[in-house]
Amino acid sequence: MTSVIRTEGLTKRFGRILAVDGLDLDVREGDVYGFLGANGSGKTTTVRILLGLVLATSGRAEVLGEEMPRAARSVLPQVGALVEGPAAYPHLSGRRNLALFDAMGRRTDRSTRKVRIAEALEHVGLGGVDERPVQAYSLGMRQRLGLAAALLRRPPLLVLDEPTNGLDPQGIHEIRQLLLDLNAGGTTVFLSSHLLAEVEQLCTRVGVLDRGRLVLQDELVALRRPTGRVEVRTPDVAVVRQLLDGVVEHQDGDTLFVRYDDPAALNARLVAAGVRVVMLAAERRHLEDVVLAAATASADRFGTEPAAAAQQAEALEK
Ligand code: ATP
Repeated sequence: MTSVIRTEGLTKRFGRILAVDGLDLDVREGDVYGFLGANGSGKTTTVRILLGLVLATSGRAEVLGEEMPRAARSVLPQVGALVEGPAAYPHLSGRRNLALFDAMGRRTDRSTRKVRIAEALEHVGLGGVDERPVQAYSLGMRQRLGLAAALLRRPPLLVLDEPTNGLDPQGIHEIRQLLLDLNAGGTTVFLSSHLLAEVEQLCTRVGVLDRGRLVLQDELVALRRPTGRVEVRTPDVAVVRQLLDGVVEHQDGDTLFVRYDDPAALNARLVAAGVRVVMLAAERRHLEDVVLAAATASADRFGTEPAAAAQQAEALEK
């Protein structure tokens, strides 16, 4: 599997603050990689280092197989980036802003550029936008414009810092769909977020940052592996409890958590006994629990207060 972003011992110090602490990131081709962390955990600093906007204090960073920031000139034109809200000239229209941005990147004739800009605006749901200046845009529209700029060059890699910040639920849904479509078309996506639910819904691979340290990095399916229990929802709770005496570990209303190896066999057994099964599925670990456990383990290892780790994990909004 080809690495699209790889860092080794990446570290950034701002005076006494250790903002990024020895990161070993591994983002692979085809990933939608969710870089998850509470406010102030070092996400933006990391993204800025990857894009050559900030120099690391120590460690290495490779983007698209080349060393950053040394290879910035050849790497950056292949990366669509959205960092800390889109930069734009407020008195110009969105279309004009994109034209200026595009002109910086490479020489193309005007009609090709016009088509490309129209396509990018259409892609992010700003197709019908008039010539109104960007200063009259809502925050969500500005965010979309930033994404359009990131898409203009049809890059193989998108690096997005909190791309759904400031969007309403409809906008979040549209951007999520857009990123999934792009990914299906072969674009690797690296996005930072403080939203657990967003990462859980969108990403294939997750890295969790906690006070500058990467406390977890794995495929989402591996993190959300089955717990070995089966979740059974039924109106016949008492019957099931009697039938499965000893293996029902927990009850939450009409849902039972049963220690059982084979969900299909359990289903067959319950149905044969005349139990009405509303829902039956292998229980999976919740990302929230996995993140909390990783933060606590890291706090133990590095001698931070476990309470602080729990607080930090809770600061990740669901
Ligand atoms: P948020 O979600 O709030 O944007 P973040 O995870 O992106 O947070 P960073 O912005 O990378 O976190 O900040 C990490 C730490 O580094 C913070 O303590 C922040 O105050 C500090 N920091 C970031 N940039 C600078 C700077 N230019 N000078 C001094 N300290 C900085």
